[in-house]
Amino acid sequence: MGKNPSFSFSNALLKWFDEHGRKNLPWQHPIAPYRVWLSEVMLQQTQVETVIPYFERFLKKFPSVKALAKAPLDDVLHLWTGLGYYARARNLHKCAQLVVSEYKGKFPSDVEQLVELPGIGKSTACAISSIAFGQATAILDGNVKRVLTRFHAVEGWPGKPKVEKMLWQYADSHMPQERCADYTQAIMDLGATLCTRSSPNCPACPMQDNCEAYLGDEDVTKYPEKKPRKATPEKSTTMLIVRDQKDRILLEQRPTQGIWGGLWSFMEFDSTENALTYCQQLGKVGEHESWSEIIHVFSHYKLKITPLLVTLNSALSVKEDGKQWVTLEESLNLGLAAPVKRLIQNVQKLSEFLI
Ligand code: SF4
Repeated sequence: MGKNPSFSFSNALLKWFDEHGRKNLPWQHPIAPYRVWLSEVMLQQTQVETVIPYFERFLKKFPSVKALAKAPLDDVLHLWTGLGYYARARNLHKCAQLVVSEYKGKFPSDVEQLVELPGIGKSTACAISSIAFGQATAILDGNVKRVLTRFHAVEGWPGKPKVEKMLWQYADSHMPQERCADYTQAIMDLGATLCTRSSPNCPACPMQDNCEAYLGDEDVTKYPEKKPRKATPEKSTTMLIVRDQKDRILLEQRPTQGIWGGLWSFMEFDSTENALTYCQQLGKVGEHESWSEIIHVFSHYKLKITPLLVTLNSALSVKEDGKQWVTLEESLNLGLAAPVKRLIQNVQKLSEFLI
């Protein structure tokens, strides 16, 4: 099935909006810049249903931008409790004070001026400008990005500057010169109610005749592409499991700051040679063997551990702070990182086998 050549994105969307769009949201009655701004900031990371009671409580307590500007920040934060992303509440308060001091309590309609205010990015500025002032300023929030990446089958993660630039161009190209407020509301509604993240209702969608993802007979949810996962960096270490004839092992306590802070661990070296050189300070080095590598995954990197088991024929006492010889049994009562505990248990099995 080909595209419909006489299709108009904005006409189709507005026609659908007249029948199915959301027209009873509390900030739509009446539409005023203060109310639109407040709702847009609240909606930045939060769903409509959650925002509604917060919006109503805010408006009751701070019926105007002047009332909000005058309020102590603590009152604003208190009313925001539960909405999350508290920087939004602090910026909201700062923004209200600037609108009062710089613009005599009236929000500017110009996008360039709006984006200069705290907490207002380009898309929020365009939403305020189009919904509250009827200007032809297209928005590009998460919902719109989803609709446009599917409608135009846009490859690439929308967070990439090149992809985002292309999406702004598409957004601008569809923006009509009339019914700007309705159009902005309509594209947000389409993304929120039909073209949803995981279960889009394409058969009911007014865009289906020309939506490239849908016409392409592919899984439309492959758009927008997800943020590429960075390959996890890897680090390597040699863990020295040195034991003496009395079956004691040498452990050191890690600094309180950093990975495994305060836990007891084996000493680490960057090579087997350096570990063996260190062992010569501890006594007469006997047999040694490297065990197969184990991998421990931290949230931000992978640690490849090569365990090196060294047996000392005679051991000297250690005088270095934070290091001690302990029996295998004692060691298991200390605070140990998971891979260290596993290695100690392996040494224990080995000792039992040798007895
Ligand atoms: S047809 Fe489907 S994928 Fe395309 S815009 Fe509509 S809901 Fe989204």
